[in-house]
Amino acid sequence: MPEVNVERVIEEFEAMTRDAGRVQQETLRRILEENRDTEYLVSLGLNGRTDERTFKARVPIVTHSDLAHYIQRIADGDPNPILTGKPITVISLSSGTTQGKPKYVPFNEELVDSTMQIFRTSYAFRNREYPIGLGKALQFVYGSKQFKTKGGLNAGTATTNVFRSSKYKSTMRSMQFQCCSPDEVIFGPDFHQSLYCHLLCGLLFRDEVQFISSTFAHSIIHAFRTFEQVWEELCNDIRTGVLTCRITVPSIRATLSKLLKPDPQLADLISDKCKQLVNWYGLIPTLFPNVKYVYGIMTGSMEPYLAKMRHYAGDLPLMSADYGSSEGWIGANVNPRLPPEEAVFAVLPNIGFFEFIPLRESHGGVKLDPVGLTEVKVGEEYEILITTFAGLYRYRLGDVVKVVGFHNSTPELRFICRRNLLLTINIDKNTEKDLQLAVESAVKVLAEEKLEVVDFTSHVDLTTDPGHYVIFWEINGEPSVDALRESCSVLDRSFVDAGYVSSRKVNAIGALELRVVRKGTFQLILDHYLGLGAAGSQFKTPRCVGPSNAKVLQILCSNVVRSCFSTAY
Ligand code: AMP
Repeated sequence: MPEVNVERVIEEFEAMTRDAGRVQQETLRRILEENRDTEYLVSLGLNGRTDERTFKARVPIVTHSDLAHYIQRIADGDPNPILTGKPITVISLSSGTTQGKPKYVPFNEELVDSTMQIFRTSYAFRNREYPIGLGKALQFVYGSKQFKTKGGLNAGTATTNVFRSSKYKSTMRSMQFQCCSPDEVIFGPDFHQSLYCHLLCGLLFRDEVQFISSTFAHSIIHAFRTFEQVWEELCNDIRTGVLTCRITVPSIRATLSKLLKPDPQLADLISDKCKQLVNWYGLIPTLFPNVKYVYGIMTGSMEPYLAKMRHYAGDLPLMSADYGSSEGWIGANVNPRLPPEEAVFAVLPNIGFFEFIPLRESHGGVKLDPVGLTEVKVGEEYEILITTFAGLYRYRLGDVVKVVGFHNSTPELRFICRRNLLLTINIDKNTEKDLQLAVESAVKVLAEEKLEVVDFTSHVDLTTDPGHYVIFWEINGEPSVDALRESCSVLDRSFVDAGYVSSRKVNAIGALELRVVRKGTFQLILDHYLGLGAAGSQFKTPRCVGPSNAKVLQILCSNVVRSCFSTAY
């Protein structure tokens, strides 16, 4: 596979985005033509029409639950063209953090192609600014468990389906991304053992590592938090050339014993470096002297991990990866110099047909029609609808984005949050973003005691009268009683939504409760999701745990070690 021609990829992207409106029409035409004989489109009376007007008039806006029974039939082995002309042979499991259980979504080669296109595009822009030399990538990537659906289709998370595809491997090679870890580690059956071995392989190739990445920032943070616990064991393996007995998967042991040779010098070097670090600040550049940047999705629900990421990364640039979902990709980060807080995603107009529901108008009760890709307005927020080559038509992804500018004629989007409300009891409305901002304010109180929140989530407790918000925190130490109380009141005060404030003032919503959970509780939650088939690299901590997510709620509630109520009102 020849090297990616960075200039050519950029040129193609520029040409396509200069003509985004026409490319969108052409993309819609191709999607509708390829799938004209599907049961779904036929039943809507499209009659082979491929123009936008007919499409919008006949095809309804849907959510996953509207399509679930079609997808289930595909998964059960129905061979008819149901949603796509070409048969779907693989099913993706979306992480399903919100509902507590993974959702099935169709996966096909076109999704692999658009994934590769988006990877190449952002790589080209990134490499122009931060060229990487020949070497390796320390990638914390994990294949989730794969299984067969009732109809015999392979099912796994979207990232796993992509990592397994041959196109992924050749695209990575053409971008000179050679992962430090062998496939046995990436696709190992045990997340913890794979993580340990990723770290070990990274250390063995420490001089060659050019960048560090994962799909979502959470797994990078999780990996280095784990490093803090296991570094001595890792050094011991390197010193003796014998893999720790905690690695029990035979295929991993066999491959790693070929890589591992006794190297006391390297072990001493790493050990000395670790001992010199103060509170692990700058761990990444210290361990990997030739790393150019850290790369992964750092926006949205990953933002709370940025402070820790900067702590580990020292002066290295952090680069936020592209925007997409198991259902389909949306935009590439073509401005790699922007810090993650300001990252924007330029929509690729040929990978799907995109529509945008304006949110300002729909708040006022007047529901406006969605607008097209080139009709969005800068400064406005929208809910995004996608129509893909994988059988989803006018599908509500559930994400809120803000248009912050245009790249040629395609919009640049900032991810705002998931659309669904997390916390609501009566007239109050708080989203994931509101929770994130409240936690951001309250952690400053802990920071005064040099403590940090490892992870957090929330819950609406209606067992009390009135109901109240509960925030769960895992903290990396023991805060004073005063700091905890103050944090709790800051959290309560930081929900500034008028419905919440007025309800709190008249006690229609009770005082906010902060519950501190035992160290390792969020690891148990991660383990729970991995058990359900989630992939470590695609994991997002659920930011609100509803009653339907009983197991996670039980994990949280049974690990509470301290709690207090706000005195803010
Ligand atoms: P999943 O398909 O389950 O892994 O999750 C897809 C969801 O992750 C999207 O709908 C977004 O809510 C979120 N997501 C994906 N990419 C980004 C990004 N670059 N920034 C923020 N959130 C993202």
